[in-house]
Amino acid sequence: MSPRRARHPSAHPQLLLLLGSGLTVVLIVIIVAALLIREHTSTLQAAKRSSTNIAQLINADVLRNVELYDLALKGLIAARQREDLTKVDATIQHLVQFDLSTAAPFKGEVLMLDANGNVIADSSTLRPTPRNFADRDYFQVHLKDPQAGLYISRAFQIRCDCDQVWRIAFSRRVSGPNGEFAGVAVATMRLAYFDQLFSTLAIGNGSSVNLLNTHGILLAQQPLLESDMINKDLSERPNFKRMLREGNGSFQATSTITGKDRLYTFTTVGTLPLIVVVALSREDVFAPWKRAALLTSGATGILCVGLLWLAWMLRRELRRRYRAERVLSELAATDALTGLANRRILDERLRQEWDRAQRSTEPLTLLMIDVDHFKAFNDRHGHSGGDEALRTVAQVIAGNIRRPADLAARYGGEEFAVVLPHTDAAGAMVIAEHIRSSVEHLPRAAGSEGPITVSIGMSTWDKRNRQSLEALLLSADQALYEAKHGGRNRIVDATRH
Ligand code: GH3
Ligand code: MG
Ligand code: MG
Repeated sequence: MSPRRARHPSAHPQLLLLLGSGLTVVLIVIIVAALLIREHTSTLQAAKRSSTNIAQLINADVLRNVELYDLALKGLIAARQREDLTKVDATIQHLVQFDLSTAAPFKGEVLMLDANGNVIADSSTLRPTPRNFADRDYFQVHLKDPQAGLYISRAFQIRCDCDQVWRIAFSRRVSGPNGEFAGVAVATMRLAYFDQLFSTLAIGNGSSVNLLNTHGILLAQQPLLESDMINKDLSERPNFKRMLREGNGSFQATSTITGKDRLYTFTTVGTLPLIVVVALSREDVFAPWKRAALLTSGATGILCVGLLWLAWMLRRELRRRYRAERVLSELAATDALTGLANRRILDERLRQEWDRAQRSTEPLTLLMIDVDHFKAFNDRHGHSGGDEALRTVAQVIAGNIRRPADLAARYGGEEFAVVLPHTDAAGAMVIAEHIRSSVEHLPRAAGSEGPITVSIGMSTWDKRNRQSLEALLLSADQALYEAKHGGRNRIVDATRH
């Protein structure tokens, strides 16, 4: 039996250490993840803000220029309808009709077409060369729809050796005195205007600025994603449909052209049938965030692993120390020869049990056991033979106590003591008798004259006698003395006097 009640392993501090470090790691991960998510959101918001600014800038510039074209067309129509102007010189007529158009940048020709599509006035010359544009989309639109207002055409290229550039046409219907179709005023503009406007804006690689009309025709793109992008019909693309539906805003989607994820920010140009789209590459937008996130998560990972490793090492050290401590405390509590509790523990436990007996008024019995004629045994069998006999007697004593609270200890030399809490004299006598007779019946050592025997002095504290601890010890000792004098190999109960 263990001399002291086994202490619980130091599971508490170890568990606390592991739980604490685990919780710290979880907290660190949560905090870092929250920060990264916040950073991600603000990166997206910043990108949206700058895209919106770019779109608004383009919006304002395009709107101003288109208004200039519209003014030129309105001026031309108004001048053509003034009767009095037909009377003045052709040069002055020309000057008045085409004056406003000179202000528009990247302007091409400004023409007046009659109801059949023939050019009847040309901003570049007094005598227009005979040409017919009845097949052009803008002519057909105005012919069919009197409410078309300012119409913006698809992009087209004029087939001539001199000027092979993309243009678009702004046109307005000319109505006769009774509202009938009387022709079209049309002004063309080189799309280089948009290229120049867009190229002044700094956007990242893989991103683009686009101008589409509301029919889904791409009029300008900077930089060009593919060489044949201009004039491409994107009206069936889901992204375009969404922009047309929403008018203004931004969303993230996969580009049907490049297949890459984009952040689209778009705005309708005033009341014009034009949409400006800033398409940023998501990869570009989040590249700095990704780098920072990788760095932060890497550092956090290393930190957490380091923390867990430290906690683990600390736990190992704690366990090692605990084991060493336990071995030491067991050593300090155990008698080296017999393995029973030593005198120190006996004194400690006897005091504890005596105190407990006072409180509970349960009886407490103390046995003092002394090996008979041990000096003679030692002389006959030598010191090591004596030691062996003491170990055997100790085993017999330990083997005869069963309850967890019972304690067998070596009192000193060839004397032992047994503390029996909650045990009255009658119960203790049974145990004492077992010990006595078991020792007597031990196999005899070779060459010994008789069996090893023990004398036992026994004293019981109970609520009737209420003796002090010292008195209890003394009376047990006296009983042992009496047992010796009475002939040895016997038990004397001090409380029987
Ligand atoms: P009694 O019946 O009156 O008790 O006689 P005794 O000879 O047992 O008593 P005594 O006190 O005269 O002798 C005790 C002997 O026990 C003395 C010593 O040689 C022996 N002894 C005490 N401790 C040890 C021990 O640790 N090992 C061995 N081998 N002998 C011990
Ligand atoms: Mg003795
Ligand atoms: Mg003795």
